[in-house]
Amino acid sequence: MTSPRLQLDTVAVHAGREDLAGLGVHALPIDLSSTNPLPDIEAGGLSYEAMASGGAPTAEGGAVYARLWNPTVARFESALARLEHAEAAVAFASGMAAMTAAILAATAETGRRHLLAVRPLYGGTDHLLSTGLLGTETTFCGADEVAAAVRPDTALIVLETPANPTLELVDIRTVVEAAQGVPVLVDNTFATPVLQNPIDSGASMALHSATKYLGGHGDVVAGVIACSDESAAALRRVRAVTGGLLHPLGAYLLHRGLTTLPIRIRTQQANAQRVAAWLEAHASVDRIYYPGLMDDPQGLLGTQMKGTGAMIAIDLRGGFEQARHVTAGVGLFTHAVSLGGVDSLIQHPAALTHRPVSPDARPADSLVRLSIGLEAPEDLIADLEQALAAHRPLSVPAQALGA
Ligand SMILES: *Cc1c(COP(=O)(O)O)cnc(C)c1O
Repeated sequence: MTSPRLQLDTVAVHAGREDLAGLGVHALPIDLSSTNPLPDIEAGGLSYEAMASGGAPTAEGGAVYARLWNPTVARFESALARLEHAEAAVAFASGMAAMTAAILAATAETGRRHLLAVRPLYGGTDHLLSTGLLGTETTFCGADEVAAAVRPDTALIVLETPANPTLELVDIRTVVEAAQGVPVLVDNTFATPVLQNPIDSGASMALHSATKYLGGHGDVVAGVIACSDESAAALRRVRAVTGGLLHPLGAYLLHRGLTTLPIRIRTQQANAQRVAAWLEAHASVDRIYYPGLMDDPQGLLGTQMKGTGAMIAIDLRGGFEQARHVTAGVGLFTHAVSLGGVDSLIQHPAALTHRPVSPDARPADSLVRLSIGLEAPEDLIADLEQALAAHRPLSVPAQALGA
């Protein structure tokens, strides 16, 4: 990284575009080639070898085949690496494809099969780990139990901060210290590099479901991991073999979306602060989960995480019945899973995103999660007000509806 230290907003606009002037273009080019003309057998073969080992193509041999390398994807990766203060980044077809590659790289290359996971985690991650689908054994633990749970065969520690859906902040530095050298992967989806850089706190990898804030417009499914050059090579080796690639159209949309990430996050966060303050005072809200409105004994807000973000969860006094009523009664909010886009969403984690989580670790039935978008906060509050006010207890018990 030879460029001067630029501010985040400048990096978001310019990173990963260094080669465009040389190409004689101003906007990001989309290269859809599935294969590439070979100069000759030897140069093509050597480039293939370089990429299969986890490196970049050679200048002489070119990209060879799109499962190994794509320049549109590589530009997005280099931009995201800059934003995450990392040496490199590797992009995947989804956040779960990224998580899968991280687990395979950590286990296959070390022969270790044990993972530690700090709960709560996104339901899909929890599910992947608890099923042992990838031949791993996972111990779920609290952040303060990591030191005691690390084993000689522990390959990777996975944590999420803020956690999905209850927004607890986990002290990354403390977990890294307790890890005794085992790499720590932090799911940074909720915070984004605008609010938090896990690698600066000692994490080995920062993972994103790029489907969420990085994309920001609800039209891309993607994942990306920022890490060291060495880890990136291991992830690319796994990606080349297992094929969980990010499509260049998705990479283009993500890279374009990065330019507005800082202003989107700041405005969505300001909106969320308004909505959260209103919800906290509402008679139907039993408890609110929002950084800044919860205990933060380690003082992580303002240090590890620079802002409060734009995700909110609430426990409704009316329990599941009211959750059903509110999710059905909103008009501006869309009742839908996913998060981080320009428009606001509401969903019920226990029944949807966290359905695969074991019952003892699943979010409460009274909890709904809100992703606050770019709409005027007054309008969002008015929408929630009418949805909460319209609540009328129903006579059908929740269990009868399979909740
Ligand atoms: C959505 C999500 C994932 C999974 O990402 P996909 O892109 O849906 O595969 C992982 N972690 C968190 C925190 C998420 O919200």
